[in-house]
Amino acid sequence: MNSTVTDATRAVSSQPAKLLEVKGLKKYFPVRTGVFQRTVAQVKAVDDVSFDVWQGEILGVVGESGCGKSTTARLLIRLIDPDAGVISFQGKDAARATGGELKALRRDMQIVFQDPYASLNPRMNVQDSIAFSLLAHQFPKKAAVEKAWDVLEKVGMNPAQFGLRYPHELSGGQRQRVNIARALALDPELLLLDEPVSSLDKSIQAQVLNLLGDLRQSLGLSYIFISHDLHVVEYLSDRVAVMYLGKIVELGNAADLYDRPLHPYTQALLASVPNIDPAKKRAAPPLMGDPPSPINPPSGCRFRTRCPFAKDICAEVEPPLLPAEDRLVACHLYSSASRMNGAAKHAAATETTATPPSEHI
Ligand code: SF4
Repeated sequence: MNSTVTDATRAVSSQPAKLLEVKGLKKYFPVRTGVFQRTVAQVKAVDDVSFDVWQGEILGVVGESGCGKSTTARLLIRLIDPDAGVISFQGKDAARATGGELKALRRDMQIVFQDPYASLNPRMNVQDSIAFSLLAHQFPKKAAVEKAWDVLEKVGMNPAQFGLRYPHELSGGQRQRVNIARALALDPELLLLDEPVSSLDKSIQAQVLNLLGDLRQSLGLSYIFISHDLHVVEYLSDRVAVMYLGKIVELGNAADLYDRPLHPYTQALLASVPNIDPAKKRAAPPLMGDPPSPINPPSGCRFRTRCPFAKDICAEVEPPLLPAEDRLVACHLYSSASRMNGAAKHAAATETTATPPSEHI
């Protein structure tokens, strides 16, 4: 995408545009066995997931390991194909894009993975690693190297000093900066950040998070920021989606969600974060046991086997993700009356805030 045109559009428009719309996204992985590799079950990794991302927004996605957050990112950028659902990126059908359309999608939507070393080719120096994707998009060699130097500067690395170094000559934080620079090389609109700081020391984490925050401001980028670390997600995100066993269970404004979690799983997750205040010390662990297998998830609400508030209906009816108070929640605790209030507040918020919430907030 031509970044100059995009920036000009942002400058004249006070209402951010919807960049990404995801509806009913599903991915089931077959479990095969025997000589004939017959499918005997399916892992429901992502099961009917819907959300939007607005231009310039950071959507955090948080949840325990195996909840489907990384699979969702891989589906969005089509590293794996969805079984069902809509992915509309910049108004185009990304779920079924092929050939040139898929190439364009991967230019405008880039991903940064958790392991900065594994993501880099050990035989390529830094500037060649960054220039590689530009060459694949038919950039002339000289322009590709110039762009590589430009994005290295953007991520706070001196190109003259680091351009000819190899990955083994860099620290973990420097390698992740190179990965971010590589993701920026094609002037994307949306970065999928999949646990981008999880493998880094705490002090380096803070530097990389600050860098990501600065880049969002200076380049007008949007992020989907995936992490199991609640603090890290809170630090960067405008809105947060909480995932459990392949589903979004709560989605709302980050400050409100952290201040007043509604879904029992979100409450348990936040309560599980260590607190040094002795007054807030807990006698019982807030979240007991492991999540059930995604091959055979519990009937009704998937959280019911660990939920202290579970009722009969929770085993019988799957709670849909619907407006409750100021956000979306999938839980039977929120009555239809509170949901109607939520829908009304939701509609009012649409008229007064710069970020228009949709039916998916
Ligand atoms: Fe708990 Fe029931 Fe709400 Fe699920 S629907 S989180 S089991 S109260």
